[in-house]
Amino acid sequence: MDNRFRAFCGQVKSLFGHQEFIALHEPRFWGNEQKYLSETIESTFVSSVGAFVDKFESEFATFTQTNRAVAVVNGTAALQVSLRLAGVGENDEVITQSLTFVATANAITYNHAHPVFVDVDLQTMGMSPTALGDFLEEFAELREDGCYNKSSGRRIAACMPMHTFGFMCQMDQITAICSKWHIPVVEDSAEALGSSYKGKPAGSFGTFGSFSFNGNKIITSGGGGAIVSNDVELGNKAKYLTTTAKVPHRWEYYHDELGYNFRMPNLNAALICAQLEKFTFLKESKKELYEDYRQCIADYGLRLKAIPEDTDWNYWLMSVELEGEDERDAFLKCTNDLGVMTRPIWQLMHRLPMYADCRKDSQVNAEYLEKRIVNIPSSARKVQ
Ligand SMILES: *Cc1c(COP(=O)(O)O)cnc(C)c1O
Repeated sequence: MDNRFRAFCGQVKSLFGHQEFIALHEPRFWGNEQKYLSETIESTFVSSVGAFVDKFESEFATFTQTNRAVAVVNGTAALQVSLRLAGVGENDEVITQSLTFVATANAITYNHAHPVFVDVDLQTMGMSPTALGDFLEEFAELREDGCYNKSSGRRIAACMPMHTFGFMCQMDQITAICSKWHIPVVEDSAEALGSSYKGKPAGSFGTFGSFSFNGNKIITSGGGGAIVSNDVELGNKAKYLTTTAKVPHRWEYYHDELGYNFRMPNLNAALICAQLEKFTFLKESKKELYEDYRQCIADYGLRLKAIPEDTDWNYWLMSVELEGEDERDAFLKCTNDLGVMTRPIWQLMHRLPMYADCRKDSQVNAEYLEKRIVNIPSSARKVQ
């Protein structure tokens, strides 16, 4: 086993030009990053107001084919505010998946609501429309003021599918099911910037889409995020809430509800503007890497996770599917020992102490993937 994995590490190093350590996902600054940052510093507008914030919001709406984009401080804040504006409040339930990064569930809890976990699909690794439909058929009931969970008595206020590693959930089915039950959809598109499903971009399906520009994502602002919506009024409301809910006035400080300081600083906006310009170039480079993996990976007895049907993938984070826990652990140890960074998929949310008591379905697929999926180095390669 070890010999196969050792040989794989040699192959990865050769694909990445024989660096000593190969990271899982590194940012690349190939464009106007330095230039825009210098301009920002010279302008003195480094903080929460500035030309790059406006430029980014306008360009990002175009990029995601939505009507309004709002730059925020990180992806978690984007999710939190999206849920609140979708109508999630105290003691409500939000349906999501247990196989996700912790921020998805935390954003629900920050709104004093309860996550409910439905299973994922084995191919997309995102929310399974079948699991969602089955759960609602069994437990949901439509009342005058919305959809309720008959067994808990709580309102089901939103559904939040997450597009794992940039693979898209089957959004046509998910939105159809949610619309039948009058449940708003908030997409956790943090990992899926630039992916699309049946030609429609990630983030543009739901009432809101949320993105992250953390350092490990496909493009980065250092730290940052965005909320997008096709409903301009809701989008403007998101801007208002994330900028302290201040009623516009030239000098008065008057805030008419509980807002947040979730603004993206102009310095970070400068970086993300430059990164967005290079998106296609980055994606192409990552696509070439994926093709190189595809050519050779079977030689090492490894199975590359295949791009699901109907997804135009952003190639964010590539993964292999191991036979089971023993093989997975051996692979993780060998690769990390040899300087090839690999990471297992997340532990399921319902195993974490704060989410152990949440309602959930069988989770057979999530548990299957949890034991087997490992991410492999996926950075865009440096131009030689
Ligand atoms: C990265 C990520 C987030 C949160 O983004 P931050 O910018 O780190 O707050 C949320 N959900 C998922 C699925 C993510 O991968």
